[in-house]
Amino acid sequence: MSRIYNFSAGPAVLPEEVLAEAAEEMLDYRGCGMSVMEMSHRSSAFDTIINEAQADIRDLMGIPENYHVLFIQGGATTQFAMIPMNLMQNKVADYIVSGSWSKKAYKEAQLFGKANLLASSEDKTFSYVPDVHSIKVSDDADYVYICQNETIYGTLYHELPDTNGKPLVADVSSCFLSEPVDVEKYGVIYGGVQKNVGPAGMAIVIIRKDLVREDLLFPTPIMLRYDTYTKNNSMYNTPPCYTIYICGKVFKWLKAQGGLEAMRERNVSKANLLYDFLDSSKLFKSTVDPKDRSIMNIPFVTGSAELDAEFIAAAKAAGMENLKGHRSVGGMRASIYNAMPRAGVEKLVEFMEDFEKKHA
Ligand SMILES: *Cc1c(COP(=O)(O)O)cnc(C)c1O
Repeated sequence: MSRIYNFSAGPAVLPEEVLAEAAEEMLDYRGCGMSVMEMSHRSSAFDTIINEAQADIRDLMGIPENYHVLFIQGGATTQFAMIPMNLMQNKVADYIVSGSWSKKAYKEAQLFGKANLLASSEDKTFSYVPDVHSIKVSDDADYVYICQNETIYGTLYHELPDTNGKPLVADVSSCFLSEPVDVEKYGVIYGGVQKNVGPAGMAIVIIRKDLVREDLLFPTPIMLRYDTYTKNNSMYNTPPCYTIYICGKVFKWLKAQGGLEAMRERNVSKANLLYDFLDSSKLFKSTVDPKDRSIMNIPFVTGSAELDAEFIAAAKAAGMENLKGHRSVGGMRASIYNAMPRAGVEKLVEFMEDFEKKHA
């Protein structure tokens, strides 16, 4: 067996300990004589799995009692529609667009009502986060929407906008569980799990209880209503059992690592290794405004498409994969999620130093 360093933006690297444990339990989950994939979601074994997963993420993030934790199929993109369908009452919402993901969510909301563009950073190819102090939230907005970490452009809100009492909705797909969060500052926190938590195909939605309504404005399919999930412990129909099981293992792994405070420390230190190199390099450059830099997704360029391609191929040959930037922006991107070992980032930086010397 030989594992590479996987810098993919998602689906992405998972902790080796978690994968090894899942492998060990594959044929016979703790004496059940079957794998979790083959097990009824109504069984007591699975009931324990889902309940422990919920309890562990509550513990990790310090989620208060007045918030639900929901497991919903369809990834993060399904939430682009579920949010307006479930939260709109005035049919008005405010969106800050800081990259492709918030732009997609903003467009989806227009299917259901008036989506106001509060601010955008598209003028400079989403290389920064719009100034949160200069926004003016609409009086009739049902919520204010942000994507907290824009995976493609590598920006992070280091400060949240003041929403003037309106619920803040945040897509945290690519920064989920990367650092401590003050949950009470949000109405809804959600993310697709395949970036920093588990296998693809599911979103975790943390929603303040008063925002879950039964009297929706729109004729809403049962699978797209939050109350379907709150009333059935996320098991109205068959949930993505195996994904929930792996996410649960990742939560336990994070707790064993010392929780989110410890993860922040590690993540900041890993990211700084790379940023410090980029800021001193004569060949490689960061593309993001220093004040808004992500600690999870780090795009960089040489300025030459040919050299970028040569670098990506050479890095792959040296055991570092998926460093190609998103097809919409080119260049390189290193995603260094929770499960990326520090040694992987060290190896990348050393490799970049060597590459730079050879191309001086
Ligand atoms: C990947 C990503 C999405 C889309 O996730 P899917 O699960 O593929 O729908 C949405 N938002 C952000 C920030 C992402 O990184």
